[in-house]
Amino acid sequence: MNAPLPLSALHNVTAADLSALPVIQKWVSFASVSRDSNLPIIEWTRDLLEAQGIECHLSYDDTGKKANLWATLPAHDGESKIGGLVLSGHTDVVPVDGQPWVTDPFDAQVIGDKLYGRGVTDMKSYGATALMMVPELLKRKLKKPLHLAFSYDEEVGCIGVHRLIADMQARGFKPAGCIVGEPTGMQVVIAHKGKHGYKTSVRGHEAHSSLTPLGVNAVEIACEFVMHLKSMHRTLAKDGPFDAVYDVPHTSIHTGVIAGGTALNIIPRDCDVAWEIRHHHLNSPDELFAQAKAFADSLIPAMQEVAPDTGITHVRTSMLPGFATDAQSGIARLCFTCAGTDTESGAGKVSFGTEASLFHNAGVPTIVCGPGHIAQAHQPNEWVTLEQLAWCERFMRKLADEICVS
Ligand SMILES: [Zn+2]
Repeated sequence: MNAPLPLSALHNVTAADLSALPVIQKWVSFASVSRDSNLPIIEWTRDLLEAQGIECHLSYDDTGKKANLWATLPAHDGESKIGGLVLSGHTDVVPVDGQPWVTDPFDAQVIGDKLYGRGVTDMKSYGATALMMVPELLKRKLKKPLHLAFSYDEEVGCIGVHRLIADMQARGFKPAGCIVGEPTGMQVVIAHKGKHGYKTSVRGHEAHSSLTPLGVNAVEIACEFVMHLKSMHRTLAKDGPFDAVYDVPHTSIHTGVIAGGTALNIIPRDCDVAWEIRHHHLNSPDELFAQAKAFADSLIPAMQEVAPDTGITHVRTSMLPGFATDAQSGIARLCFTCAGTDTESGAGKVSFGTEASLFHNAGVPTIVCGPGHIAQAHQPNEWVTLEQLAWCERFMRKLADEICVS
């Protein structure tokens, strides 16, 4: 058993000091891009755990080509369902297509003080470090059960974890806390924003572009709507409400895609706008949506005066709830201890969404804490520092001290 290093020593570590490095490199070697099957990484991990006598359960998607893995290390008294922790992460990664990678993204390499590869930050290092710890946890015997939960299709909207959590509940598991290892720079994150995505569709009326009074220009109306969203965003950024703990302290509204029109000499009939609200707990996304919709509705009478079959419709395309865990909660205090940021002043809140909110809403108090920084996620030449990897190992070893009998 390796004693946890002091925080001050972490920046001096080399690849040779990192016990989890071979497991991380193995996990990165599975090109588990969300559009492809994740079964190779899941089955390899299942085999690794089953060889140590650990019971694993796979829950598949409807195609049978993707699966979540739930593995339970029982407590020393045999308890496997009630209490204990979940260490959770996703196995899928975003694509590398078109990105200027210098190294092979699926052959993780240490260069200088960093490890390069797809998923080293988002988020294979955390899950692989947890796997590295399993033999030690078994040897030292657990006070309460410990579960490893690895999901599919997180990067395309936290899809797989819904099934994983439903399965967890149906099989009677009631963990007392969950640590999601998304990249937070090993800061203990106790809250993140919620995100609602929408598609707004403008149906105008086609006409020859010389006859503007006879047409309803869907692109121009969509632009008016986008500018209204922008003005709402500016008001939020200027007047709040603010939660200063977030990196972006206000709720934000953003337009991601606008698509419409077919040719310069045709007044466009259709235009679609994809946009989102990322909100903290001081704003209601439904109220903000209602404001945006009221503006769109105000444009419709003038459209229908020209052509009655015109209009503006909205659908919500995605919804990820936010979450906030009490900084005084047991799971938060445990993580402050393990991360070495001993007090709640080290607690963070982030603007990106994770699977944490889904565990949290299923009644499992959850925090987010993992190696690497979100700024490196999804990038070409994605990297994580060896210091962050060492910090994650230190976290896991401190955790073992807390949750093991000996
Ligand atoms: Zn991630």
